[in-house]
Amino acid sequence: MKEALLYQKLDNNRVRCNLCAHLCVIHPGKAGICMVRENIDGILYTKVYGRSVAQHVDPIEKKPLYHFYPGSKVYSVATPGCNFRCRFCQNWDISQIVSNEILESGNGATSDQIVWSAKQTGCKSIAYTYTEPTVFFEYSYDTACSAHKAGLRNIYVSNGYMTPEMLDMINPYLDAVNIDLKAFRDETYRRIIGARLQPVLDNLKKIKQMAIWLEVTSLIIPGTNDDTKEISDMANFVAAELGVDVPWHISRFFPAYKMKDLPVTPLETLQKAKEIGIKAGLNYVYVGNVVSDRDMDTNCPHCGYLLIERLNFGITKNHIKDGHCPECGTKIPGVGLG
Ligand code: SF4
Repeated sequence: MKEALLYQKLDNNRVRCNLCAHLCVIHPGKAGICMVRENIDGILYTKVYGRSVAQHVDPIEKKPLYHFYPGSKVYSVATPGCNFRCRFCQNWDISQIVSNEILESGNGATSDQIVWSAKQTGCKSIAYTYTEPTVFFEYSYDTACSAHKAGLRNIYVSNGYMTPEMLDMINPYLDAVNIDLKAFRDETYRRIIGARLQPVLDNLKKIKQMAIWLEVTSLIIPGTNDDTKEISDMANFVAAELGVDVPWHISRFFPAYKMKDLPVTPLETLQKAKEIGIKAGLNYVYVGNVVSDRDMDTNCPHCGYLLIERLNFGITKNHIKDGHCPECGTKIPGVGLG
């Protein structure tokens, strides 16, 4: 095991982990809420360094990132563990169960090996994803440093619950993030997710101020976060606090894990959420996890011209020229758009 970063020693061999907003105080022989950071005799260790349990080449649209090198390939990496307890988790088998068996199934890939694999497979970037990158920070940080040296970009797909200290540390190596805004009620965050809303909002604002490309995803769950007022609050927050050019991905819920009793999000609800986002002034509102690919296209917010046409997590057309709409010349926000 590797000694953790970002913790402080307390009395009686206790430690405080300063990696995420839980700020766990951990007694000797115990682990934090994420289950993957353990106090052994007053030293905090990460149990997941090098324990990569998933490595795949994905289209960047799958993260989802629609305004960051569209059409490129990304090398996705995950270890076990998460600091959230989402009852609707799609990846619960690696995020919510941290057994020795699962940890030992990690392939032990070094940071340099991950970078090498990403280069070999023609990827432009590495995504720390599927589970929460915050809880494998040391591994993702070392890999991100190596990736930059090799000319690759780094992406976090995150729940946004890290501490400001962690964000400051990864900032020079992080190029893009997609943050889940899972609800806009603190009560929902506490009851369904096991966390608080405010740190996520604070981090979204902090990331926006950094030179990191930001996109936001909200999974709309029937009976949980789908009332008009809550969706409006989310959209208005993104527009007012992050900016109308931040892409907002509205994602369709499918029953999973401990919320199998709920229905799939109706298409009308997703369309309603899209309309709310547009009404809030957002220029780029996308609907994901649906059959209708037209809701995944990028249109110029000024003249409506079709800029990027998407199909099945890939792009079929990209008309953007030097970052601008070819029809009216409007600058399109993003990185490496074409
Ligand atoms: S990463 Fe978060 S959940 Fe895990 S030990 Fe640290 S403070 Fe606790």
